[in-house]
Amino acid sequence: MTVLDGKKLANKIIDGLKQKIQKLDIKPSIAVILANDNPASKIYVKNKEKKALELGCNSYIYSFDENVKEDEIISLIEKLNKDKNINAILAQLPLFKHLDEQKILNTIEPVKDVDGFTIYNTGCLAQNAKPYSIPCTPKGIIKLLKEYNIKLDGKNIVVIGRSNIVGKPLSLLLLNENATVTMAHSKTKNLKEVCLKADIIISATGQKNLIKADMIKKDAIVVDVGISRNSDNKITGDVDFENVKNKASYITPVPGGIGPMTIACLIENTYELFLKQNCLEK
Ligand code: NAD
Repeated sequence: MTVLDGKKLANKIIDGLKQKIQKLDIKPSIAVILANDNPASKIYVKNKEKKALELGCNSYIYSFDENVKEDEIISLIEKLNKDKNINAILAQLPLFKHLDEQKILNTIEPVKDVDGFTIYNTGCLAQNAKPYSIPCTPKGIIKLLKEYNIKLDGKNIVVIGRSNIVGKPLSLLLLNENATVTMAHSKTKNLKEVCLKADIIISATGQKNLIKADMIKKDAIVVDVGISRNSDNKITGDVDFENVKNKASYITPVPGGIGPMTIACLIENTYELFLKQNCLEK
């Protein structure tokens, strides 16, 4: 069994980006909108900012309390869209319940949509037609599998979870890589049977211990995207790692797997948007 070391690859990507960003006269800038009071979101936003600053990017966080009106956020995004000094805009999800997520996300100019969540960029991904950005977590998953020379072409891949953030864009990326993709979700019947047919299982549900050793075939590849907390507050994923690792050929750990890849891809997306907006080559 080989552990797919996301932390190591993320550090390699970040080191490469750091060198490229150091050479720029103007630094890429990211604006982050935080409109919820979820403690986990606050930590994610802080971590993203820390990494962006560490790499020499500019980072601006716009925090709102629960009294914020949708129009205030829309006006801010319209202002950021026009601001030549801002290359990337991210609205941290989830937003406060009274805010229309689709409307807010789709106010972001596609060329500044660092998460790739606008309808334009999602449509491009669906048509395999060069989106400005690819969603960070799915992008990180594909990069990590490729780093270990794992072939996707013709593989039976089960993606568990159908969110707009992870499951759906990931399935499209895998289809574009010629995989045979099955999407499973909370209404899927006989998840075990579905998983037993898979060469690769990618679980993104947030359900602790959903994937057990008897649900995977021998030498399957298992990617764990889930993040939840155990009773002792330790971070854990969707996979029963200790038992599944003995049967899998490759497996991602939590933490140290897909989490660091997501942050590395966010900075990479910011840098790539900066290049596109300034008509520079990669
Ligand atoms: P979400 O809540 O939007 O979607 C969860 C999905 O899981 C749904 O499609 C649901 O149908 C499915 N699901 C729930 N219970 C299930 C079950 N018992 N069997 C099969 N399917 C089930 O979540 P999301 O935003 O896609 O995130 C999923 C998980 O991934 C969360 O734990 C989140 O914290 C984590 N996440 C991690 C990263 C990272 O960088 N590692 C990034 C994004 C999300």
